[in-house]
Amino acid sequence: MSTVPSFWSPRIAALEPYVPGEQPRIANLVKLNTNENPYPPSPRVLDAIQEAAEKGLERYPDPESVALREAIAARCGLHGTQVFVGNGSDEVLAHAFFAFFQQAEPLLMPDVTYSFYRVYAQLYAIACELQPVDEGLRLDADALAARAAAGCGGIVIANPNAPTGIGMPLACIERLLQACPQRVVLVDEAYVDFGGESALPLIARYPNLLVVQTLSKSHSLAGLRVGFACGQAQLIDALQRVKNSFNSYPLDRLAAAGAIAALADEAWFSKTRDAVIDTRDGLTLQLEDLGFEILPSQANFVFVRHPSHDAVALAAALRARAVLVRHFNQPRIAEYLRISIGTREQCSALVDALAQILD
Ligand code: PMP
Repeated sequence: MSTVPSFWSPRIAALEPYVPGEQPRIANLVKLNTNENPYPPSPRVLDAIQEAAEKGLERYPDPESVALREAIAARCGLHGTQVFVGNGSDEVLAHAFFAFFQQAEPLLMPDVTYSFYRVYAQLYAIACELQPVDEGLRLDADALAARAAAGCGGIVIANPNAPTGIGMPLACIERLLQACPQRVVLVDEAYVDFGGESALPLIARYPNLLVVQTLSKSHSLAGLRVGFACGQAQLIDALQRVKNSFNSYPLDRLAAAGAIAALADEAWFSKTRDAVIDTRDGLTLQLEDLGFEILPSQANFVFVRHPSHDAVALAAALRARAVLVRHFNQPRIAEYLRISIGTREQCSALVDALAQILD
């Protein structure tokens, strides 16, 4: 009997990779499963990409992405040396885990949060300690701060949290920063523009703060893959070292040009962001009328459960009606569905489908 040899490194064999939400190949689905912005990016983005495509594609892009970093810095009230950019914030997060959290003590994170954090920790063999959220899926910042003060390898939190949408006030973030001044506190603000409170103003006072954001959600650029981290230059230098030991040109010319154009169109950003917030608030009321319990969301999605309907069955019934939402088969949140905020028409289609299913 012959056996096929495994060529895999033991750590890769033991990994449980992140499973992204479905990107269906079928047209005309109401796609509310991966927290994309339902609106297209600013028209200026397309012009900038067109222009960039017409010149210089035979040349490598700027490895340091100086123009983009300066554009982000200007928007965030920082200096270009305080900004790091990557191919989506997932890549920025991966580099940050590698750069800061390989420590003797465990990395702290809530037990309900973005599931990619645990994958990065596994990938880099970083021990994690999970801080339980309460019944309402809220994180007790004081308990986390007390645990951190006893010694830890760092803290990672998403604010607003994913997949709950619940935001944490800045005062709580500050308590975490003070609790472990020797370690990095990474605040993932992927959804902050939809109503959260950003920790960017704390950067000047806290050398251990790294804020990660993305253009995927509030700037409608999930397809372009641009994320960034902000922090004092010492943290950014560490991220540059990782990047330059991995891929020195993570952002291509088109992505950099499109991102700069998106950041420059503040009016488009505000208009689409306000529409998403407004639709979220309307959808929340409609879902409440249908009997759903909805966690208070500061993000571009809502996390909901129905007291008398199983989440898996609901997701399947919605899919049969061409509406995609996200279910996580994970402890503590298996009864919930995460619904991304679509256009008003898409949310109406969702509500109509749910009304039929619950009837
Ligand atoms: N952080 C959180 C909390 C997210 O939900 C996501 C999107 N899945 C990301 C980071 C990554 O976003 P991107 O790589 O598109 O910037």
